[in-house]
Amino acid sequence: MSRFWSKVVEGLDPYVPGEQPTIPDLIKLNTNESPYGPSPSVLEAVRAQASDTLRLYPDPESIALRDALATYHGVRRANVFVGNGSDEVLGHIFAALLKHDAPLLLSDITYGFYPVYCRLFGICYETVPVDERLCIRVSDYRRNAGGLVIANPNAQTGIALKQTDIVRLLDDHPDSPVVIDEAYVDFGGETAAKLIGNYPNLVVVRTFSKSRALAGLRLGYALADAALIEALIRVKNSFNSYPIGRVTQAAALACIADDGYFWETRDRIVDQREKLAKSLTQLGFDLIPSSANFVLARRPGYPGPQLATELRKRAILVRTFPETRISDYVRITIGTDHEMNQLVATLSELVSDAPRPG
Ligand SMILES: *Cc1c(COP(=O)(O)O)cnc(C)c1O
Repeated sequence: MSRFWSKVVEGLDPYVPGEQPTIPDLIKLNTNESPYGPSPSVLEAVRAQASDTLRLYPDPESIALRDALATYHGVRRANVFVGNGSDEVLGHIFAALLKHDAPLLLSDITYGFYPVYCRLFGICYETVPVDERLCIRVSDYRRNAGGLVIANPNAQTGIALKQTDIVRLLDDHPDSPVVIDEAYVDFGGETAAKLIGNYPNLVVVRTFSKSRALAGLRLGYALADAALIEALIRVKNSFNSYPIGRVTQAAALACIADDGYFWETRDRIVDQREKLAKSLTQLGFDLIPSSANFVLARRPGYPGPQLATELRKRAILVRTFPETRISDYVRITIGTDHEMNQLVATLSELVSDAPRPG
């Protein structure tokens, strides 16, 4: 604290991301990055940008990139907004679309950044509890709301909602923005992008950080009706008119073009997730069925934070959520085959000392 701080800064409660330590031979399974690097053509595109043209500003409207994303999703350029990571895209959405008299509705178990934006932008919100199996029940959202933000598949649990449930949320709230954060959708969810033409209140948010192995590049985007995209562009041009650098625009274009590599790495991650789920079940873990690139698991008799601490001593990082209803769980990002084998071997040593459940 300092006397130079504004009241706004004093009141902030910033998001704390998973740690990015530099431990040698670390098995990093705590922030849902892809275990595979980007495709060779993406790296080539990045190298090609290392030139004299870096002295020039990038295209402020990211036209080529938005056109490529529009083609990929079967929408128009006017339906696409790009930002410096989906966190920034979400920030603009909260600022532009979600401040109303009625409260914003958020799940009690979801991405921890949403309430942080509410505090930053002075948005009142209410949390809606997930059910005892940690599922979002869309009927619980049938109440007065200034807007909804739902991660699908949900953050921390990996549970995906069906398209019919998304449609129900949209139909129940025709006069409020409904934001669907699809950070993990490529690993098993169904995208709501194809509903955009029918629902002027729908905003779909996507990222290149997870399934596209480009967390270090920082690119996210939103798909929505042109009027909502225009609101985001107004906020962007009141904040930072060149959010996407030349390197990022070129790399993302190459990434979209390399569909083969995308599906190959995506399929490998899904296969490894299913394999890990089997191994964890054999070790006596309870698992939440995941449609994402992570699994949320708990071992009865072995508290999550304690397990995470023991794993960390053995250079394996996983994530825990200490102050929530999922505090006895660990969230494990799907890594390479080798990393998953190491993890399972380490876990089986650790839990062999703990009493077997049931
Ligand atoms: C990882 C994640 C994000 C942030 O993605 P970036 O594009 O890297 O900013 C947003 N929402 C959810 C649910 C996430 O898991």
